[in-house]
Amino acid sequence: MGRVQGRVAIVTGAAKGIGKAAALLLGHEGAMVAVTDVDEKAGRAVAKAIREDGGQAQFWPLDVGNEEAVRTTVAEIHDHYERLHILVNNAGISGANKPTHEVTDEEWDRVMQINVKGVFYCTKYAVPFLQEAGGGSIINLSSVYGLVSAPDVPPYHASKGAVRLMTKTDALLYANDKIRVNSIHPGFIWTPMVENHLKSSGDVEAGREEVAKLHPLGHLGEPDDIAYGILYLASDESKFVTGAELVIDGGYTAR
Ligand code: NAD
Repeated sequence: MGRVQGRVAIVTGAAKGIGKAAALLLGHEGAMVAVTDVDEKAGRAVAKAIREDGGQAQFWPLDVGNEEAVRTTVAEIHDHYERLHILVNNAGISGANKPTHEVTDEEWDRVMQINVKGVFYCTKYAVPFLQEAGGGSIINLSSVYGLVSAPDVPPYHASKGAVRLMTKTDALLYANDKIRVNSIHPGFIWTPMVENHLKSSGDVEAGREEVAKLHPLGHLGEPDDIAYGILYLASDESKFVTGAELVIDGGYTAR
């Protein structure tokens, strides 16, 4: 018996990185996984990998920043599985890495559209189905960058701070519906997002060593380190946990 046996889960941004690890683990633990992403090829491969592992999964192309696409895709997923229990709001981008006075309106809005409005849209259209199911779990990917600051990516910091509080508001709004809403705050995790961020700022290996030093445990995390937190929050093991911040950061914020 898996830890989320028989549950239906939507994972956004599930083609790569943390979302991929979460989709694979939820599938391995018995969930029926709707793998969604803008990257169709990689997304289809993740759904196939879950099926090859003996699980159930299907891919849906989805840009979380497009409200109409979110509305129709969430409804299609619900039609397909006839129920919905888990939403992992994982899709996100790091966006422009410049000081605030150089960030353009378009750069600011793009990060907000995906990281903040994407969470809003997916939550908005999933909640009625979670209510119909008698409860569920929403897991929002914030960041240590939503808890403390650093002198980089200003729109990203703002977006992850927003996600932290959106989580608590929705936890209160939907507690009576038995819908739990929690945020996860990863430190630096070795994914394409971090690799591209380091590439944009110089030598990747040197950058990786520098970033590793920010974590008292002395290294970056792996996508699975976060996927296990997502699995915990998705499962009934966390049935008394809502509005919480699950920090998984190798000690980054403990200083
Ligand atoms: P990643 O860039 O490696 O993967 C993100 C996935 O999201 C990709 O598959 C991408 O195609 C998809 N995506 C991008 N825009 C999308 C959109 N508009 N609609 C749907 N899918 C979209 O990122 P990651 O490192 O795995 O990060 C996942 C989440 O975790 C993000 O919300 C990120 O902010 C957060 N996070 C990551 C780290 C880290 O160190 N990697 C740390 C803290 C928080």
